[in-house]
Amino acid sequence: MNEKKSDNAQWLLTFLHSAVTDKLCTKISCTTCGARKFRVRLAAETQEAFARYDRKEIQRKALQFDRGGDSDIVFMLTESFAQVSPPKSDQLRMRDAAMLLLFDLDRIFLHGGDQFLLDEMLGKSWAGDVLAAMRARYEIDEQRRRDQALRANPKFVQAERERKKAERNKLHLARVARKEERLRKWLDSNAKKEALLPTSTLIDEKSEGSY
Ligand SMILES: [Zn+2]
Repeated sequence: MNEKKSDNAQWLLTFLHSAVTDKLCTKISCTTCGARKFRVRLAAETQEAFARYDRKEIQRKALQFDRGGDSDIVFMLTESFAQVSPPKSDQLRMRDAAMLLLFDLDRIFLHGGDQFLLDEMLGKSWAGDVLAAMRARYEIDEQRRRDQALRANPKFVQAERERKKAERNKLHLARVARKEERLRKWLDSNAKKEALLPTSTLIDEKSEGSY
């Protein structure tokens, strides 16, 4: 069973390996070639693997992923991807190819209306980790884009200027407060020194009064 599972994934690992070795373009949204060679070869390899696959099993599983025409082949590809576990030394080299495949799968799943089924199916696999990193990266890029858009907005620039001014003002007030505090302490300690004499006279007055 386990042997069969790894067999199911082996074809995809071999494909990713050959894509790297043959230096196929794996650029997401490549404007020169559209990563055509990679996509064409993957489609052919996927068809071949699909022909070897246990159809009954895949059809049963694909029922929960019924998204029309190519559901079961996409399901098989994703399931294979979840089982791909390249050696550590290859992981970095294969990353771009994996990202391109994830990018395509994500679009297919999104189109099928299931935003997180891909993440769910890949789980804690290598592909799942790469996908999670892509999503995190996307979040960072999105935030950066929002920040830049805000910075380019005159209203934001004005608000930011006022925020900084208020910040400087707050610091200034804090400095003034600390200065006043030091002055007060200094005056207090001086007052205590001076109070040494009046205190003794006070006692004298008191003792005089008790007579
Ligand atoms: Zn290209």
